[in-house]
Amino acid sequence: MKDIIILGGGLSGISTAYFLQHMEWVRSITIIEKESKTGGLCRTIQKGKYHYDIGPHILFSKDKEMLALMLEVLEEKNDLKRSNQIYYKGHHIQYPFENDLSKLPPEELQYCIHTFNHNPYENYTAENMIQFFLKTFGEGITNTYLRPYNEKIWKYDPVFMNTSMVERIPKPTQEEIRRSAAGETLEGYLHQLYFHYPAQGGIESVVRGLEKRLDKEKCHIKTENTVTKIEKNRTGYSIKTKGGLCYTGDMLISTIPVQELTFVYPKANETIQKRVVDLKYNSIAIAFVKTPYDLCGNHFAFMVPDKNIIFHRISKMDFLGEAYHFENEATYMVEVTYRENDYIASMDDKELFSQIQKGLCEIGFAKSPADVEQIDLTRYEYAYVIYDLNHTKNMSVIRDFYKNEGIILNGRFGNFEYWNMDKILRENLELSLKLNNKYKGV
Ligand SMILES: Cc1cc2nc3c(=O)[nH]c(=O)nc-3n(C[C@H](O)[C@H](O)[C@H](O)COP(=O)(O)OP(=O)(O)OC[C@H]3O[C@@H](n4cnc5c(N)ncnc54)[C@H](O)[C@@H]3O)c2cc1C
Repeated sequence: MKDIIILGGGLSGISTAYFLQHMEWVRSITIIEKESKTGGLCRTIQKGKYHYDIGPHILFSKDKEMLALMLEVLEEKNDLKRSNQIYYKGHHIQYPFENDLSKLPPEELQYCIHTFNHNPYENYTAENMIQFFLKTFGEGITNTYLRPYNEKIWKYDPVFMNTSMVERIPKPTQEEIRRSAAGETLEGYLHQLYFHYPAQGGIESVVRGLEKRLDKEKCHIKTENTVTKIEKNRTGYSIKTKGGLCYTGDMLISTIPVQELTFVYPKANETIQKRVVDLKYNSIAIAFVKTPYDLCGNHFAFMVPDKNIIFHRISKMDFLGEAYHFENEATYMVEVTYRENDYIASMDDKELFSQIQKGLCEIGFAKSPADVEQIDLTRYEYAYVIYDLNHTKNMSVIRDFYKNEGIILNGRFGNFEYWNMDKILRENLELSLKLNNKYKGV
């Protein structure tokens, strides 16, 4: 029988416990979480009557089994159809960009069609993200939208990013580009055209739904417990947390960012420390704001490639359902990414908010900065994994090290992969089946 310790109570921690709890060789599961509630990036913040996520989290997946699980644990869901736009120099282009080219100003339209039809990069093997865009979409679509938007969201030059994030993006046909340029708006990226969202309580309802199904006798959640030191001994692991508590177990699964794990694991040698420090990620500031009128229309998300506007995406909460809609006002979630030591990281919140007000006026969502009221503004350190050119090598060395230590890495930042909720569940289901094969009957 095993006593399992899971570090981190985000979706990974909770779902790993959910999948493992009924296995006969599992005696106990203890989840150690530093925040006052579980959920991690899938937490929903409540401010008075408002609920909002850490970035708009929508439920969609090609993985029907995992999507069904997320929906099954919800009390009630809303079924929605995407209506996203790209803001380009005052023009609203339906997302995905390449499917609505006729909304571009004439010069950019010609540039995009011409360089798609006569593409000198078409036959290269793409070795980085920009090469992939040039090869797949041509120079016009790349330079008009894909390059500036990606530079803005990642805060990292996509020339130094590999193709992991983009290689599944379908290449439009000449026929599609011709129709899109001629005025037809085509639907693209069909796997996320329809999506779901909890009817109440925001995305955290998925985590709460899973948590409710945990066996209280077997699973113990310890919140407000930051892991400060991990020791490995002959029989297993001992975990010390801030406040002087100590937990022991004979199996350790870590879903906390691999950097945080390495900082508290003294056996991680200099080589591992260096690899971990070389991993690239960005952080995010989430501003939740309201205006006394709605100038956005019946749309959900707006992508903003313009670098003079501080945010890369803005989402109208009303779109998600009745519980998120309030009379005589529109509420928006505004996302601003940044990286350690860049100009946004060092900007204070007052300046950041004033830039957001300015940006909302510029895209026509507010008539004056004074009309934009801040409900909340919070920064989160770990937002997106950046697949820089060293990512694969760094993670392979780090994974080997922890495998030798018997520590199982798991989760978005635990494994350092760009995983959405469906993938997190799939990985955790696979992990629990693998462990079951190894330990059942032992
Ligand atoms: C802006 C944004 C938008 C997104 N949109 C979507 C979407 O639309 N659809 C979708 O499917 N997915 C989306 N995702 C992805 C989704 O949020 C993640 O896949 C998921 O939340 C990852 O869960 P996790 O448990 O692996 O990691 P996390 O949620 O990061 O959990 C890690 C946990 O470890 C805890 N922890 C950290 N350090 C310590 C420590 N020292 N001691 C104890 N505990 C610690 C943290 O507090 C946290 O609770 C989005 C993510 C972001 C950032």
